[in-house]
Amino acid sequence: MARKMADCRRFESDNGCSLTIIGEEQEVMEAAAQHAVSAHGHEDTPELRGQIQGMLESEESYTFGTRASEPFPS
Ligand SMILES: [Zn+2]
Repeated sequence: MARKMADCRRFESDNGCSLTIIGEEQEVMEAAAQHAVSAHGHEDTPELRGQIQGMLESEESYTFGTRASEPFPS
């Protein structure tokens, strides 16, 4: 099964977060949800999980260095 990526660089954030999480989808969901709560002040809700699910990319999308960011979808 292909691993998934949640990439904070992809979205604009107050703290300019550069974290990239890559792993099995379930691992990324857990880690990204905890990170969203601890680093970005989100609440761990089904809605948040849905948002994270929607921002998962294939690990092949990973790029080194910086990445152009877009507004976080709300
Ligand atoms: Zn982040």
